[in-house]
Amino acid sequence: MYCRFFAAMLLSSLMATVSHAAEEVVVYSARIEQLIKPMFDAFTQDTGIAVRFITDKEGPLMERLKAEGASTPADILLTVDAGNLWQAANAGLLKPVASQVLDGNIPPHLKDPNGQWFGLSVRARTIVYNTQKVKPADLSTYEDLASPKWKGRLCLRTSKKVYNQSLVAMMIAEKGEAETERTVKSWVNNLATDVFPDDTKMMESIAAGQCDVGITNTYYYGRLIEKNPKLPLALFWPNQESSGVHVNVSGAGVVKHAKHEKNAIRLIEWLSSETGQKMFADVNLEYPANPKIKPDPVVASWGDFKHNPINIAKAGEFQAAAVRLMDRARYK
Ligand code: FE
Repeated sequence: MYCRFFAAMLLSSLMATVSHAAEEVVVYSARIEQLIKPMFDAFTQDTGIAVRFITDKEGPLMERLKAEGASTPADILLTVDAGNLWQAANAGLLKPVASQVLDGNIPPHLKDPNGQWFGLSVRARTIVYNTQKVKPADLSTYEDLASPKWKGRLCLRTSKKVYNQSLVAMMIAEKGEAETERTVKSWVNNLATDVFPDDTKMMESIAAGQCDVGITNTYYYGRLIEKNPKLPLALFWPNQESSGVHVNVSGAGVVKHAKHEKNAIRLIEWLSSETGQKMFADVNLEYPANPKIKPDPVVASWGDFKHNPINIAKAGEFQAAAVRLMDRARYK
């Protein structure tokens, strides 16, 4: 009697474990909780699949995945910058995914050619200028910021940040090392002051008149202007006659040793869909990676621009060369 009772208990708790396990997905995220929690909640509402996640910087998350190996609980790695996603794929932490949904929703230049990661939001790294000191007609390309007319007028964020490493890596992919090195050396030569720890401090310095022009991710501009609409700052879309604006992504890949692979693919597909894209991009004033989805009105107000269509996997491929090049150019 008792025996049968306990057997039934054991069976039902086992089934609960099995069905529970089948209805969850575990995410390691370098995007902070406030950016991801609302969309994970919406995904769970839509699908019944629970999302468990931890957040940390990309470096520690990748180290953790390496250390955990086959026993990792993680199904998805979510992080910013193609440079980081490429590193994860290159370290063997991700697995290729074939998905018609993702093929349809994410353009070819915003995902890994081998299907190991997919861009889910686009961040444009563009020129920002002081509207009291610079006219848009004075601006043209990233490379032009190397010209003598910007001597003592340029501000840059540190080369230690992956965003600048990716920008320079993409320039190497397009123009080769020699030309890129000449450009970066002249940028350094044009600096008005020491490099900045982040894009926001750099823009505050441009607004304060310490320098006239710099390079920023647009969402930092959006946040700063939202807080302080009177700042004399505007964005400029460079290289529109040539290669286009440097774009990068925030994106995700399925972990090689994922225990809930189907749910992981389902979550990434959902994030590429209309509901997911609106939440993923708008919450941080980024651009949807899915070209069928319109950006937030604030973001749209900055105007349309041509993307650089080179595959952003190059940001990873040429990252080490970019770091060495910036070191040679004494870009701190
Ligand atoms: Fe950022």
